[in-house]
Amino acid sequence: MVETCKVCGLPKDLCACETIARETEEITIQVEKKRYGKQVTIIRGITSKREELERITKELKKKLACGGTFKDEEIELQGNHKSKIKDLLVELGYAKDQISVH
Ligand SMILES: [Zn+2]
Repeated sequence: MVETCKVCGLPKDLCACETIARETEEITIQVEKKRYGKQVTIIRGITSKREELERITKELKKKLACGGTFKDEEIELQGNHKSKIKDLLVELGYAKDQISVH
């Protein structure tokens, strides 16, 4: 049985809902200071599924050689990666104009 999308009714492999959702996401990047003065880079606004978020987190950790985690649709990376993170997200398929760095 072919799995169909609940939103558009098309078979999953023809459905573009997720791609569309992804293109309309507004991603914000913010560097926050944690206890003991440690900085973390927080990425908010990626509404993909858990597996996708896991994949993105893993990929960013690898590219930035840092620790990180995600919870509640927030990716938290250790350290200040403001200058690189936008380019990395673009590499992962996001558009420059959907990403804002604060
Ligand atoms: Zn769909």
